[in-house]
Amino acid sequence: MPGPIDLHGAVDLHTHSSVSDGTETPSELVRAAVAVGLGTVALTDHDSTAGWQEAFAAASGTGLTVIPGMELSTNYGPASVHMLAYLFDPLNGAIIAETARIRDGRLHRAERIVERIARDYDLTWDDVLAQSTDGGTLGRPHIADALVAKGHVVDRSAAFQSILHWRSGYYEKYYAPSPLDGVRMIVAAGGVPVLAHPATHGRYRVIGEAAIAELVDAGLFGLEVHHRDNTEDGKARLYELAEKYDLAITGSSDYHGAGKPNRLGENTTSPEVLERIVAAGTGTRPFHG
Ligand code: AMP
Ligand code: FE
Ligand code: FE
Ligand code: ZN
Repeated sequence: MPGPIDLHGAVDLHTHSSVSDGTETPSELVRAAVAVGLGTVALTDHDSTAGWQEAFAAASGTGLTVIPGMELSTNYGPASVHMLAYLFDPLNGAIIAETARIRDGRLHRAERIVERIARDYDLTWDDVLAQSTDGGTLGRPHIADALVAKGHVVDRSAAFQSILHWRSGYYEKYYAPSPLDGVRMIVAAGGVPVLAHPATHGRYRVIGEAAIAELVDAGLFGLEVHHRDNTEDGKARLYELAEKYDLAITGSSDYHGAGKPNRLGENTTSPEVLERIVAAGTGTRPFHG
């Protein structure tokens, strides 16, 4: 076992709990953040704010600051594009309605993927529900966990490389707004939008400069440059775009508990950028525990 690391109050702005596809509850995630020495953590579950209150309660008295956030799903043509959102009003009507629509679409899409897989493998919808939280945001990771439990694959990564791959024949997409509508909605709710891992090895080319320029006009605040899935070439290009369009640069772990190898604080955001995000967000306040 490696000894405890101390991240000296570092800032990690992208984590997932069991409210979406992380494996730890918001309380467990907060305790893990305190244990590694983070000073600030953002809880950014996919399309849900349901973990915020539990995270605040768990952080109380620990000295940890929790930035309430979310990773909004958007569709850009055939590509799935993730938009981080910080400090928006969780009671904003458009946010509530749109995230409910996305979660509902994800649920039915997961049912259809499982139907197809069940033609070839021993897998039931109940197996998948057993891996998810009531009212949480469903995704392929929960199907992956069910496939692991049934012994069809060894872990989530193996599931994504085989049965859950988009070319497997079992895959389908789910409803999500465009990135532009996503940015507009986040800004209208007082939030701060940051494009998540924009330069990953994807099935499609990363979102182009013209599209970024449009998002900037709509209020895009930053780019998540420091993320393990961004390619080195891609990061260089993101630096140029950030400079040209005056976008903030963030870094984060995209921690999913045991669901991914990503470690809390493996990439971090500067205190200056955090300060700018906190100053820009008007929908709700950070929680200082
Ligand atoms: P979905 O939202 O249902 O399309 O599933 C995508 C989610 O699966 C992302 O949010 C990732 O967190 C997760 N994911 C993608 N690839 C992998 C992988 N190789 N191992 C574990 N989780 C993954
Ligand atoms: Fe995820
Ligand atoms: Fe993501
Ligand atoms: Zn994420």
